[in-house]
Amino acid sequence: MIRRSEKFNKKPVKAYVVLPCYNEEEVLPETCRQLLELFREMRDDGLISISSRMVFVDDGSKDRTWEIIEELEEAHTEVCGIKLAHNVGHQNALYGGLMTVKDECDCAISIDADLQDDIHVIPEMIEKFRDEKCEIVYGVRKERKTDTFFKRTTALGFYKFMKLMGVNIVYNHADYRLMGRRALEGLAEFEERNLFLRGMVPMIGYKTDCVYYNRNERFAGESKYPLKKMLSFAFDGITSFSVNMIRLISTVGVIACIIAVAMAIYSLIQKALGNTDIGWTSIMCSIWFIGGLQLLGIGLIGEYIGKMYKEVKRRPRYIVEEYIGDR
Ligand code: UDP
Ligand code: MG
Repeated sequence: MIRRSEKFNKKPVKAYVVLPCYNEEEVLPETCRQLLELFREMRDDGLISISSRMVFVDDGSKDRTWEIIEELEEAHTEVCGIKLAHNVGHQNALYGGLMTVKDECDCAISIDADLQDDIHVIPEMIEKFRDEKCEIVYGVRKERKTDTFFKRTTALGFYKFMKLMGVNIVYNHADYRLMGRRALEGLAEFEERNLFLRGMVPMIGYKTDCVYYNRNERFAGESKYPLKKMLSFAFDGITSFSVNMIRLISTVGVIACIIAVAMAIYSLIQKALGNTDIGWTSIMCSIWFIGGLQLLGIGLIGEYIGKMYKEVKRRPRYIVEEYIGDR
């Protein structure tokens, strides 16, 4: 009894669950059913308010996805729908959903429409937001048992490589997360067009935490992320967040110049010993020097392009968390 009344001391939050959907007609009714059940439980526990919603973002689907969303919206007050004019991809669809609801909710939880991520940690996320004042709560996968060996190793390699490239992302976290309104406003300040949300969200700041869950297999339909899309997504992530690739060019240039010096010494010794044909020494020296110089030049230009790249993104220079004192 005491615990129950304690629970009710805290104000329920207005939570929005945002689900991007692309050709998800097979999964939507079941997804909606499971979420409605969870909403009911969370409302009974005083965790979320009756004005909480689930928002399906139709990312220009070619099947009956939008019709199903319309039907669900008719049948349940908790359901809302956003129809995008054309297919813009998961990241943009999710961003569009979050930006559309950001002024209406206390916090938004993003999750894939196939519910592969365990929705039963959502209450824990909301508790961390409400009781521990976390602005961002990441859903992190405990293990990757349900993945194929291939997906597991490529994913691991991806995180390792991102780290190597100096991109700060949360290990084993995809786009399943809770963001408070302030974090959403922070995200809105990022004006870039190439979205890679798992790289951007950690840049916002504020108090963050993680919840851990096991990922299930898709209960219907098939993955919209074939290998080709996955690779281009990974490449996007790296090139959107790091200029280390450009630095690599300069590094190779420096190495080539060092080799050039060694080659010059070696060729001159060979020439002195009379082991060389006419012209070999000069060609050897010039090839390495010119190659090295060219690479260094490209790297240098790259540095400027890297700077311009950062400028055109117009990322926020700072986000104020608190301001105290009389004004
Ligand atoms: N999705 C989207 N637009 C796209 C591709 C996918 O909105 O162009 C959505 C899709 O409906 C799902 C989520 O992104 O809710 C993740 O896709 P999927 O489950 O196919 O990826 P996987 O879990 O296999 O990585
Ligand atoms: Mg999926």
